[in-house]
Amino acid sequence: AKPHVVVIGGGYGGATAARYVRMWSGGEVDVTLVEPNAAFVSCPLSNLVLGGSRRIGDLTYGYDALAARHGVRIVRDSVTSIDIDKRTVALASGGRLAYDRLIVSPGIEFLFAELPGMAADGPILHAWKAGAQTVALRAQLEAMPDGGVYALTVPPAPYRCPPGPYERACQVAHYFSRHKPRSKVLLLDANEDVVSKGPLFKKIWKERYGGIVEYRPGFRAVEIDAAGRTAVSELGEKVKADVLNAIPPHRAGAIASGAGLANVNGRWCEVDFLTFASARVPNVHVIGDAIQTAPLMPKSAHMANQHAKICAAAVVDLLAGRAPNPAPVLTNTCYSFVSDQDVIHVASVHAWDAARKTLLVVAGSGGVSKEANSLEGAYAMNWAANIRADTLG
Ligand code: FAD
Repeated sequence: AKPHVVVIGGGYGGATAARYVRMWSGGEVDVTLVEPNAAFVSCPLSNLVLGGSRRIGDLTYGYDALAARHGVRIVRDSVTSIDIDKRTVALASGGRLAYDRLIVSPGIEFLFAELPGMAADGPILHAWKAGAQTVALRAQLEAMPDGGVYALTVPPAPYRCPPGPYERACQVAHYFSRHKPRSKVLLLDANEDVVSKGPLFKKIWKERYGGIVEYRPGFRAVEIDAAGRTAVSELGEKVKADVLNAIPPHRAGAIASGAGLANVNGRWCEVDFLTFASARVPNVHVIGDAIQTAPLMPKSAHMANQHAKICAAAVVDLLAGRAPNPAPVLTNTCYSFVSDQDVIHVASVHAWDAARKTLLVVAGSGGVSKEANSLEGAYAMNWAANIRADTLG
């Protein structure tokens, strides 16, 4: 029989890994992808749904091509546990799958207990996994009277998509500037400064959204009064909003913690960046937002895609008895829409450093935009279309 790779999670990391193991093994490795959702909903571009220039349907895709074009077996289910010794995973529906190598890409799990008042199905939304909550948050913004306040709490870094909250502030401000010009956007940031593209975002808030966006650093939300739509900081400050949107702190998806993979602060999974093999558990690889990153590596879809390719190549090599690539290089670009057209970016290149045994930013690589413009808007849309095609085949 051919070797068998099981992939947990059909997001940006897992779907890409499944596809590339099939392609790079020339069909000589069987791949099963386990994913509970019938459709893939992209977090990138989902802030545009809040701004009103996209609908969630524009960001929703099927898994058909992964199966039909690439021969990935797709199982619509959830993995409930991993048996490390027997090399099997248990499915919520009751079955088991045996693997030679397991690739885990479960994304994130919210730590609701660290933000009491927030709950998976509570009235205060995070909308930090694109889907029903994104649509519900847009409806709340539409229902809000002009003159109201939208407040967004940002968790301490590291969190999923460093520029994402600041892009969201721009999208809501863009909507308000067109339709509810007396309304306000209040950013309550647990961090001491804007985590990504700070000078650019601050300039845009001042020049484009002056009088709309207010940025408050050092506001670490520790409690939410859901009925009163109020965020409470660790210093006891209370901020009431008409629409409150709170992003709870998060960690690697639950299956990673359950299997003992999340060994860094009980949150993130330490990996060997040459193969993305777990530092703890043999024959298991972890990619995407769930990993403890190397310095200056964001938790992004672009990065998850790059992890997936290095991991897929290494898994194919290891299963064939070959040594994996000893010097991987990764890239990242994060685009942020500051209006419905104009975009800024940050880019970086990360290479293996044999002496320090980690990935480090290549000196002189990457950088940030000079200013927001619509040419970058076109690049951002092409980036989104390309990475989606690369992920889903
Ligand atoms: P995910 O894409 O979340 O996929 C995880 C998958 O695993 C899910 O489909 C889930 O259902 C499945 N899963 C979980 N547990 C199990 C289990 N036990 N069994 C089976 N399946 C399971 N990144 C960018 O690069 N550019 C952007 O412009 C950008 N914009 C963003 C905007 C917003 C508002 C947000 C929230 C994020 C944005 N990101 C962006 C970040 C990006 O979405 C994530 O970094 C990326 O999705 C991580 O990929 P992943 O595979 O780790 O997780």
